[in-house]
Amino acid sequence: MSTPSINETHDIKLRSWVDAANDGKSDFPIQNLPYGVFRRAGKTDDFHGGVAIGDQILDLAAASRANLFSGDAAEAAQLASAYTLNSFMDADPSLGAALRLALSRLLREDSALEGRARACMLPMKDAEMGLPATIGDYTDFFASVFHATNTGSMFRPDNPLLPNYKHVPIAYHGRASSIRVGSSVAPQAFPRPLGQTKPADAPAPLFGPSKRMDYELEVGVWIGHGNALGSRIPVTEAQQHVFGLCLLNDWSARDIQGWEYQPLGPFLAKNFASTISPWIVTTEALAPFRAPAFARPEGDPQPMPYLDSEDNRNSGAVDMQLEVLLLTQKMRDDKQAPTHLSSSNFKDSYWTLAQMVAHHTVGGCDLHAGDFFGSGTMSGPGKDQYGSLLELSWGGKNELTLPNGETRTFLQDGDTVILRAHCERAGYARIGFGDCAGTVLPAVL
Ligand code: MN
Repeated sequence: MSTPSINETHDIKLRSWVDAANDGKSDFPIQNLPYGVFRRAGKTDDFHGGVAIGDQILDLAAASRANLFSGDAAEAAQLASAYTLNSFMDADPSLGAALRLALSRLLREDSALEGRARACMLPMKDAEMGLPATIGDYTDFFASVFHATNTGSMFRPDNPLLPNYKHVPIAYHGRASSIRVGSSVAPQAFPRPLGQTKPADAPAPLFGPSKRMDYELEVGVWIGHGNALGSRIPVTEAQQHVFGLCLLNDWSARDIQGWEYQPLGPFLAKNFASTISPWIVTTEALAPFRAPAFARPEGDPQPMPYLDSEDNRNSGAVDMQLEVLLLTQKMRDDKQAPTHLSSSNFKDSYWTLAQMVAHHTVGGCDLHAGDFFGSGTMSGPGKDQYGSLLELSWGGKNELTLPNGETRTFLQDGDTVILRAHCERAGYARIGFGDCAGTVLPAVL
């Protein structure tokens, strides 16, 4: 078994005694049960694990102390009560499955333990979210062939896609220290980065704030149990090493990137901030939304055997709808809602999660619980499916006009970028990811 199977926790008929989980619109119905770490807002207590349900958080530390779980579920809840989720993520997936089943039964409207569980709830509006795990290493992939082709064609119109792309899941090693959670309630705010740029018409490089600040719409991947140095994770087992998914905005300073990226890839263009959504939707919660791996067009090479399996071909992708919204300072001042910029779907990724994990470890590199991957910018084939401003404005050539008359090629100070995602399929409850939000502040000169 390489992907979790569908079980009673996915039943569309389940309802929770937390009313807001049942309205059909919440990202967090009882079929989702994502994990995060939180503390009461305004306090300096340690963060600890919780589960999102409707507009509430079940405090796993309080629920453990109240003996609301038994057996493997109790052991898992204990691990998930810690300051970070690393130990829980490292545990055998069977422990996570036991906790999910126990949580599903605890939070159902017919639960005998409702009264005791109610004492362990905190409204989300009263919580501050933390980074769910200590991230040892962060790797960002480049898994959308549409994004790779778009960006390549701006620089190499005759040869947009480099010859390795369809053989190797391309990635670079990113910076883990500057990853933070951000949501539209509490966006990650960071100053516009300074750096070197070299406009084509300038005789020498310049130093100053980036003028081409961009976002990247990505899926974030949390690694669960890892592998020993010198060993590898076969593609057939790779899914068991993916704890769950969130959203990632891989902020990118395109002008800094353009000058520095050759020959070793992005560096300061992407290391100043990366924003993730606070909740981790588990691999098990995503079981109903698996989809066949990207259908390679006629003439494309097939993946090498170490990147190929029947299971990966049949269900390696995740049907996860992604969206980017923008809230400018003017829109905020005018009390307007964020405006939609684009949508895409993670199932259009050229490479799957299992292929990323198998490839990352094939040379013997060890992964550890709490390591983090980015999928790479998830652009789809359509012009309304581009996952960055670089693509939407086609390298800054085409100005976007927003509904309020403002225009953008790249981001301005005060702009908040909001990413959202959800999964839906007939016969199953819609589940969402919560949002991922960050705000560009003026450069600190
Ligand atoms: Mn990226």
